[in-house]
Amino acid sequence: MAKPKSCAVCGQSGKETLLIDGPIGSICEFCARSATEIFEQVFNSTASDKNKKNVVSTFKFDKKPKEIKAYLDQYVIGQEEAKKVLSVAVYNHYKRIRYYSGRKEDDVEIDKSNIILVGETGTGKTLLASTIAKMIDVPFCIADATVFTQAGYVGEDVESILSRLLQAADYDVKKAERGIVFIDEIDKIARASDNPSITRDVSGEGVQQALLKLLEGCIVNVPPEGGRKHPEQKFIQINTQSILFIAGGAFDGIEKKIASRLNTNVIGFKKEDSKINKTNLLHHLSAQDLKSYGLIPEICGRFPIITHLEPLDKEALKNILILPKNALIKQYTKLFELDGIKLTFDNKAVDFIVSKAMELKVGARGLRSIIEKVVTDVMYDPKVKDNTLNITEKYVKEKCTKIL
Ligand code: ADP
Repeated sequence: MAKPKSCAVCGQSGKETLLIDGPIGSICEFCARSATEIFEQVFNSTASDKNKKNVVSTFKFDKKPKEIKAYLDQYVIGQEEAKKVLSVAVYNHYKRIRYYSGRKEDDVEIDKSNIILVGETGTGKTLLASTIAKMIDVPFCIADATVFTQAGYVGEDVESILSRLLQAADYDVKKAERGIVFIDEIDKIARASDNPSITRDVSGEGVQQALLKLLEGCIVNVPPEGGRKHPEQKFIQINTQSILFIAGGAFDGIEKKIASRLNTNVIGFKKEDSKINKTNLLHHLSAQDLKSYGLIPEICGRFPIITHLEPLDKEALKNILILPKNALIKQYTKLFELDGIKLTFDNKAVDFIVSKAMELKVGARGLRSIIEKVVTDVMYDPKVKDNTLNITEKYVKEKCTKIL
């Protein structure tokens, strides 16, 4: 039986896409279009030679959700649900980009799948987004929602988010247009109250309204240097259709909104009576809760995918210290190794660092500040025997009493 025809560049079969036959093989519609795009950019752009070389590398992303999750597993501890949801969303997002590049007029429209991550501070929201961007090798930027205000007021315009993305893409517009933007602290731009107020809510609802335009996919005039727009400025046009927006926020107290929707009370019930407790309330999180928290319905609509991150327990914090590819202990061991010193931590010392980090209540972020304090003195003045340095529980306790 004859082998089914497939694209000689990406391997897609003729069933999935239109194949253009040549004398020695076939090429699919997507690869042909990408090649045209590359040639146009190389010959028409004013990019430097270095950038021209970058442009030649085609954007190709064909990892399956399971592969994306396996990559995240190397860097992010726990958060299974969030990793799964994110992997599927990112897979669909880049599949959509692929589809659009070969789409015919009357084909089905696939909507964008922006994502909201809800979880306490230091649980890995930014880490998840940045790890995904690293894996796909697309430009990535983090924007803090709290610095924005409605146009015309003191603060930054929301368009400056895209200026940052453009900078991350080395001013290559095409590259920026398939990048990932992480909007941090989205909960801080929640509407001040459910009732319309007589004063303007320029840093809350006003910013949400301004964000809508970016999120839904349109062509935005972006000031290349960021900041405020002004009339004499030159703009770069960016199409946000294929930019993936991931928003993160702690949404403090959202459990109460979930509980009241579910007709349960967060406090005052006996655990054994109900399977719903403060932690697993987040499992029931829905767009309705974000709306009652103060996000306007249109914003909720533009973030169709909602997932949550679990608070980190002792075991998770300990694993974060030791297991990820760039775990803190591995990083410090490497730093000492570069000076020819073998650094080790006693198990009890690690446990103590973890329990102190739990007290700080800033998630995994506390781990770094504690370790930093513990090793600063020895880094400043390493008094080591036989080029080995073992950090004991006693030593950590001594250093921690000073800081905590
Ligand atoms: P958030 O955005 O949720 O406030 P971050 O993602 O910025 O938190 O986390 C801060 C740091 O804590 C990260 O750089 C990372 O080193 C560590 N961290 C947090 N959560 C995890 C996790 N689940 N797995 C591994 N490291 C984590």
